[in-house]
Amino acid sequence: HFPAAAKVGSNGGPRLKDIGGMDDILKELKLEVILPLVEPELLAILGVSPVAGILFHGPPGCGKTRLARAIANEAGVPFYKVSSTDLVSGVSGASEESIRELFSKAYATAPSIVFIDEIDAIASKRENLQREMEKRIVTQLMTCMEEDTRDVKLGHVLVIGATNRPDALDPALRRPGRFDREIRLDVPDESARIKILSLLTRDVKLDANFDPVKISRATPGFVGADLAALVNKAGLLALSRTVCGRESTRSSTAEQNEEEDDDSWRKLTP
Ligand code: ATP
Repeated sequence: HFPAAAKVGSNGGPRLKDIGGMDDILKELKLEVILPLVEPELLAILGVSPVAGILFHGPPGCGKTRLARAIANEAGVPFYKVSSTDLVSGVSGASEESIRELFSKAYATAPSIVFIDEIDAIASKRENLQREMEKRIVTQLMTCMEEDTRDVKLGHVLVIGATNRPDALDPALRRPGRFDREIRLDVPDESARIKILSLLTRDVKLDANFDPVKISRATPGFVGADLAALVNKAGLLALSRTVCGRESTRSSTAEQNEEEDDDSWRKLTP
């Protein structure tokens, strides 16, 4: 049993429409990645191979995980997410076994997606690899990525790796048939921040003066995760303001009641 991998179905979860500020990337992914997952027979007719692996790189919080999930949900395929640190085991051979198990599940339910977060932690340049175990993990990963011998018409396993340090990756992994596509997810610019903020506040009760343009202008350097945290913090402040407001209304009503009670008591008292 491989505990770290979660299978996520097509219900719920983000879709491409929930990803803001990367229209060009989404357009490219729809055609070159999602369509081959949904209609593998099209590639078989044309005699071309699907993209085997995509490397998402960019600073933390810029949407790598969310985009990978959105691709799976959009295509309606199982999503196996694993953090590379979960794959590292001190027990000899256990890491390779985990990777084999993960891929065998993914192949059995193909078309599917395997998402490896922080892939640089297990697949850094070989000269940097300290331990024999890490070398074996990279080799096993490459073997699994190339092992798909099933009929292409049945659909393939797309591997998505996420990293903040693409240059630290073993170049062997960046060859065709492995991670043959790289997509940089950058810190969003002002117009991307407007789109992300509009998405993040879709289901939020907003003040009448809320202006995403103003907030985007005031938040250079904020990534999607920062904007999500900002929206949440604003919501919590609104909550505490509402509660404080209610309590002060309550206490002034209570005081008033007390006074009224006092009055009524006086009135009742001879
Ligand atoms: P890390 O490198 O730390 O794992 P990440 O790049 O995978 O980070 P996510 O976990 O995908 O970032 O993003 C965190 C949260 O930020 C998301 O759950 C979402 O709320 C928000 N977010 C990030 N980018 C976007 C975006 N482009 N559109 C909408 N929401 C976004």
